[in-house]
Amino acid sequence: MNLHEYQGKEILASFGVRIQRGVVAHNAKEAVDAAKQLTAETGTGWHVIKAQVHAGGRGKGGGVKLAKNLKEVEEIAGNIIGMNLITPQTSAEGKKVHQVLVAEDVYYPGDSETSEFYMSVLLNRGTGRNMIMYSTEGGMDIEEVAESTPHLIFTEEIDPAAGLLPFQARKIAFNLGLSGTAFKEMTKFVASLYKAYVESDSSMFEINPVLKTSDDKIMAVDAKVSIDDNALYRRKQYAEMRDLREENAIEVEAGALGLNYVDLDGNVGCMVNGAGLAMATMDLIKMAGGEPANFLDVGGTADAKRVEEAFRIILKDPEVKAILINIFGGIVRCDRVAQGIVDAYTNMGNIKVPIIVRLQGTNAELAKEIIDNSGLDVQSAVQFQEAADKVKAVLS
Ligand code: GDP
Ligand code: MN
Repeated sequence: MNLHEYQGKEILASFGVRIQRGVVAHNAKEAVDAAKQLTAETGTGWHVIKAQVHAGGRGKGGGVKLAKNLKEVEEIAGNIIGMNLITPQTSAEGKKVHQVLVAEDVYYPGDSETSEFYMSVLLNRGTGRNMIMYSTEGGMDIEEVAESTPHLIFTEEIDPAAGLLPFQARKIAFNLGLSGTAFKEMTKFVASLYKAYVESDSSMFEINPVLKTSDDKIMAVDAKVSIDDNALYRRKQYAEMRDLREENAIEVEAGALGLNYVDLDGNVGCMVNGAGLAMATMDLIKMAGGEPANFLDVGGTADAKRVEEAFRIILKDPEVKAILINIFGGIVRCDRVAQGIVDAYTNMGNIKVPIIVRLQGTNAELAKEIIDNSGLDVQSAVQFQEAADKVKAVLS
């Protein structure tokens, strides 16, 4: 589950990680009040207005702007709230901005230069350990840094039994070229950041930039935080932070029905049982010259009700030109699935796209008979390749 920057920062701060402070506002007037409040609390003269959407690269898209007085706060917040923010990480239509974070300006001049670093905490699936990835090249696209100057990206792996050791935090501060107060601040920052990651059950933290201020404080200026969905049952206070407006509407609906559905860009809808078979089916569609419109695992109980729910979800996507149903009858019997498909089809009555069904496993022959004798516009296939050929035929 992804969070907004302001929510991520709230979590970080609760674990003692220093953050650029801010207040959320939903309209221009609230933004001005927020700015006044921040000035009273932090003494800041300038403010940054930051669009709160689930996408990075907001700065590049005009979603992060500096305001040097209250009039500018009002103007900028008024412009950003309600806009469709397009960034390198959104679709071409962009994302509607419902709220902004009015934050203290932390790039103020002082005794030393400010510097921006990159830092993320995530799981290295290869080694089964958490790792901290960091770079001196903060504030920019980390993918670009990885491409052009990969030697400037460091990783530090953490033994899950021992946790982050003090020498590791010092090594990170050293590799980032820090000394004196900033060095000490960075070791504290890293330690509290890692603690926050583990104890919040997060699956990813990306802090870009981590800022060294001109008076040698280290703080999170941005925060991309993802909480592990599997932990939400015991992290109720984070589960409540979920903003459904930021998520794909069809995926939210499918999730409520207990279907594992991921919306994709293609034209062939898939209904499959089992994640592995779903992946193989998507490959099959690609090899037949189509593009999968979704990933959909209906799970073990592919009965009529479930098949109908899955049909309805798939057909919400206007791009779908054909549906491929690929079910393996291991625990569930194929004839029952076939009957479910026929019932759902008849019930819905308005399915206009061709449907290809491949049922394999227990009672597969019986299932094929049910489909073939149904009199509906549903084609059956026994072999994987046969199903692919039929998909190809209906697409051309
Ligand atoms: P992103 O573009 O979505 O990654 O949003 P960020 O929160 O990382 O902000 C983008 C950029 O805005 C940062 O890299 C900074 O250069 C700039 N920025 C953020 N906070 C401040 C601030 O307090 N003062 C100034 N002058 N610039 C800031
Ligand atoms: Mn950023």
